[in-house]
Amino acid sequence: MPGTLIIAETVEGAVAPLSFELLAAARSLVDQGGGSVSALVAGDESLAQPLFEHGADAVYLAPAGSLVSGYAETGVAAALAACEAAGAEVVLMGQTSLGRDLAPLMAFRLNTAVAMDCLSLELQEGRLRATRSCYGGNANAEVTWRGETQIATLKLKAWDALEPDTSRNGSVVPVEAAGEQRVRVISTEAAEATGVRLEDAEVVVSGGRGLGDPSAFSMMEELSELLGGATGASRAACDLGWYPPSQQVGLTGKTVTPNLYIAVGISGASQHMAGMSGSKNIIAINRDPDANMVQVARFAVIEDYKKVVPALIDAIKGLD
Ligand SMILES: Cc1cc2nc3c(=O)[nH]c(=O)nc-3n(C[C@H](O)[C@H](O)[C@H](O)COP(=O)(O)OP(=O)(O)OC[C@H]3O[C@@H](n4cnc5c(N)ncnc54)[C@H](O)[C@@H]3O)c2cc1C
Repeated sequence: MPGTLIIAETVEGAVAPLSFELLAAARSLVDQGGGSVSALVAGDESLAQPLFEHGADAVYLAPAGSLVSGYAETGVAAALAACEAAGAEVVLMGQTSLGRDLAPLMAFRLNTAVAMDCLSLELQEGRLRATRSCYGGNANAEVTWRGETQIATLKLKAWDALEPDTSRNGSVVPVEAAGEQRVRVISTEAAEATGVRLEDAEVVVSGGRGLGDPSAFSMMEELSELLGGATGASRAACDLGWYPPSQQVGLTGKTVTPNLYIAVGISGASQHMAGMSGSKNIIAINRDPDANMVQVARFAVIEDYKKVVPALIDAIKGLD
């Protein structure tokens, strides 16, 4: 297989962590089928080294600002140029606002298809086979491509980045980005964030409809703060207005992969599991011993959370 290209993204001038997840996915394909891994990034040359260290063999450098959310029409020219120069048959990008726009644009120009929000990838007889969630998370679909170039966006946190290897390096090749931008972004607004970001937290305490009361989320926040983590919620709790939708975990919310996920009053519907099943350890606090979350948890406390969580908070405070 000649090559795999990833579209790297940046945040505040540095390579965004999702780029390293894309490189890990690309390297696993190259390990199966051979070829090389290229990365396209927009910005200055200093961005290349972290990409090499995480698995890129070559880096294509587009002008700064040409691969950002809302400006996919500018970036598509650079992406197509890098794809051709790298001889890439597989193009991977994140299921981000940039990826959601850029992947279909590229697919249209290359007369091929795109599989969005993929959970896993493998090669079969040199061709890509991707697994993605369907029917609202109740089933998985396996898809292949008819077109020559196989384009996929990957679910964030579905791949672990490789350990950086500082001895790796490669070639840096500039590419032009001259797409015609017809969309004008009038303004952007950063979501309000305090404390640890849900996606980066090593401990997540999530509350569900079983809390029965929005004020109980302050208890979840107290517990997560004591553990140095972040607070999440099920969609049912968010839909009830009990917690901000930005903190929703699941298929239509955030994907988290903490060391410890504490699910309080959450039944464990497949759509919720889709966002947290990569957690290393799950603790379920639930009244129902048959709840799915209890079945998949490493530890479960079958009890009313009102008895368990305050006692847990007191016990942790007592450790000081
Ligand atoms: C297309 C689609 C996308 C979706 N996306 C998402 C998503 O991204 N994220 C998501 O979370 N859901 C999502 N859902 C909704 C999902 O199907 C479930 O409805 C939702 O996850 C249920 O939330 P819950 O577990 O908080 O509530 P419930 O299913 O009502 O579970 C409440 C749990 O609390 C327990 N409980 C009750 N009282 C107590 C108590 N006092 N102490 C301890 N335990 C108690 C109960 O035993 C029960 O297990 C989606 C659904 C669809 C159709």
